[in-house]
Amino acid sequence: MSDPTPQDARPLVEVADLHKRFGDNEVLQGVDFTAGAGTVTVLIGPSGSGKTTVLRSLNGLEVPEQGSVRIGDVATEFASRPDKRALARLRGQSAMVFQSYNLFPHLTVLENVMIGPRVVQRRPAEEVRTEALGLLDRVGLAAKAEQRPFELSGGQQQRVGIARALAQRPELMLFDEPTSALDPELVGEVLAVMQDLAGEGWTMVVVTHEIRFARSVADQVLFLDGGVVLERGAPAQVLTDPQQDRTRTFLKRIL
Ligand code: ADP
Repeated sequence: MSDPTPQDARPLVEVADLHKRFGDNEVLQGVDFTAGAGTVTVLIGPSGSGKTTVLRSLNGLEVPEQGSVRIGDVATEFASRPDKRALARLRGQSAMVFQSYNLFPHLTVLENVMIGPRVVQRRPAEEVRTEALGLLDRVGLAAKAEQRPFELSGGQQQRVGIARALAQRPELMLFDEPTSALDPELVGEVLAVMQDLAGEGWTMVVVTHEIRFARSVADQVLFLDGGVVLERGAPAQVLTDPQQDRTRTFLKRIL
């Protein structure tokens, strides 16, 4: 008999058995997890445990040697060596918010938000402009549309980074330590935008050391250690009552 599971009953994101090495360093040693549509997954773990590499593999920026990623209806089997077009299809499913914002310094805030939909997705200018202005309004920066990134605070630049990612209309939002480059007093405004997005039903995978954010916003927390998911569960379980010694030690160190 064929599999009776209807397509829409599957989780939006399925990651299976990811293996990735840089030279002799096997950074991912079999990473598995799933994430349902509209859920927030927070990845925590020591520096070097592979968190960023997992995010970049979801986005096709790193290409694992083995394993698979499915986001919505785009499935990528890495052992069969996906070509550029296959990786571009995977990349089209998600948008990344980087630790260091990565805004184009010579473009205005509005142009930074418009460039992906215009150049990559080739959508019409007026439609993209209207949507971009709406997104800037949503992150509280409508008044800054014509300014350049250097005129903005770090927190404001990161909110532009979030608007730019949303402008790509992704299935999945990826955040790579989005607040760790910010002065402490600017962290809250970025986390507040992320919390709003979660409330609106965005599916998000977030690498962060902000344990309070994880506790109040995450649906699941994954603890990565040595390139595997050592522990996975609801925040109340992983953060408050971890089952693994290594998780306990890590949490003690950062809390
Ligand atoms: P984390 O995000 O948990 O700090 P990373 O995924 O950034 O971990 O890195 C995991 C390991 O992979 C680290 O040892 C890092 O030095 C190494 N690494 C990451 N990217 C590269 C690369 N492009 N070339 C070589 N080594 C890399």
